Amino acid sequence: MGIALSPAGGRHAAAVIVIPVIVALLAMAATVGGFLYWSTSNSDARAVQRQTALIDHTLRSYFALQAENQESWALWSDAVDHTHPFDAEWVDENLGAEFYESFGYEQTVVLDGEDHPIYLMRNGRSVDPTLLAPDLQALAPLLSRLRADIATGALRAYLAGGRSNAPYAADYAQIAGTPAMVTVMPIADPSREPDEARQYLHVAIDFLDEDYASYLGEASLVEDAAFRLTTTENPEKATLPLINASGRIIAFLEWRQDWPGRRLLAETVPALAIAMALATILFALLVERLYRYSMALEAGRARAEHEANHDALTGLPNRACFERRLGEATAADAPVALFALDLDRFKQVNDTLGHPAGDELIRMVGARLAGLISSSGLLARMGGDEFSILEPAIAQSEEAFALAARIVEAVGKPFDLFGNEARIGVSVGIALSARRQAGPAEMARRADIALYEAKGNGRNCAMIYEPGMEAAVNRRRSAEPELRENQPGPRDVLKELPRPGSTFGNQSASLAKAQ
Ligand code: GH3
Ligand code: MG
Repeated sequence: MGIALSPAGGRHAAAVIVIPVIVALLAMAATVGGFLYWSTSNSDARAVQRQTALIDHTLRSYFALQAENQESWALWSDAVDHTHPFDAEWVDENLGAEFYESFGYEQTVVLDGEDHPIYLMRNGRSVDPTLLAPDLQALAPLLSRLRADIATGALRAYLAGGRSNAPYAADYAQIAGTPAMVTVMPIADPSREPDEARQYLHVAIDFLDEDYASYLGEASLVEDAAFRLTTTENPEKATLPLINASGRIIAFLEWRQDWPGRRLLAETVPALAIAMALATILFALLVERLYRYSMALEAGRARAEHEANHDALTGLPNRACFERRLGEATAADAPVALFALDLDRFKQVNDTLGHPAGDELIRMVGARLAGLISSSGLLARMGGDEFSILEPAIAQSEEAFALAARIVEAVGKPFDLFGNEARIGVSVGIALSARRQAGPAEMARRADIALYEAKGNGRNCAMIYEPGMEAAVNRRRSAEPELRENQPGPRDVLKELPRPGSTFGNQSASLAKAQ
């Protein structure tokens, strides 16, 4: 008999293995992906911070450099001598044209002691100083800051060697609508006392234009740097607002943001995807093996369970199985009929046709008996040439005899054993129990006594147990050796037996062979 695994069992085994593995894979992918996203986002954010800090530092150093460049022209005795009284030609040539050629600052202004522009250079050429009027307001905070420094002795201290840096004011300002770096420096003679109350000033204006941006970009290692008056809010761009001393945003510096994290992600993701795919394949192989292994285990377990409960020769339930079911049936609140069967003169088949033929006969008897029991009945091979039938549906002796008659008739028909015709008989002992009247052991004992009685009554017949049999059986058992000697062969036992009694246990009942 084949052992089938239920598809539901297989599916359950698959789910028990597959679901945790899928969950583990997804959790692994989510953890790795999440960590990668977190670390690359962090690295992108750090890259912007680094770039911003570098640009800020570079801009500060440009202010210092602009002031330093300006210092060599403004803190010069000739500059003092030619601005007061004003020597237009000298100023234009030195503080205008040459200063422009040397450093390229787009505008230079000379202011007198009252902050009136007395000289204005734009792109290397002298222009009317009154053109500065619209920008004077933007310059005013720087001028007043420097004048305040000078008034508190900063210039005097520097000229006397009391401080290392010349005082100057530096800030972002919008000049002529363009953001610019502005530095203001006193025009003073290093060897003379300064006229602090009427200090002339020199202003250098460097526009934050395209050239400046590309120069700054190169120095700060950023790409596509540009100054703008408003932000473009492009997510690909990083922005640094340029804020003046009054807290006003003068311009925005924008540049193409560096995305080291994103680059790393782009380089890592394909490798990770391959690794995940490989892991998935490996897991799938592992799961497939585990699945097969668990299915084999399950099949082994089912086979072992089947073997523990079934007879190898006939595939019918075995004694252990039968006894368990008998116990359940006798414990239930219902009547039970137990039929104990033993083939008659079976040894002769073995002796004459051989053991394999005997086996074949046992198989055939099993198959014939299986066709006789009800759907709620149980047929078992108890061992040797013994079978047992449990019929929970049978309560009356008439029904029991009717089934026994069919059994005797079915077994009595000839068997074809490898080309030889064999005839055999069967003796049946029946024990009937009303609701929970007898336990399993008692039922088995009673059926055995009835079987013994049937054997003693000439075989190939059925007897129902009744208490009166006990003494008769004991008598017969004690006379057994003698009895055996006188026993006829199977064909000889076909004799007329009394008809069965109609009620259970009221008389010794037997079944006549139906011939
Ligand atoms: P009785 O009419 O009194 O029942 O006598 P019997 O010849 O049928 O012999 P009995 O029932 O006392 O013993 C059954 C015999 O069946 C014993 C043994 O030689 C034989 N036998 C037991 N198991 C097997 C088996 O698996 N295969 C075969 N071929 N023979 C078996
Ligand atoms: Mg027998």
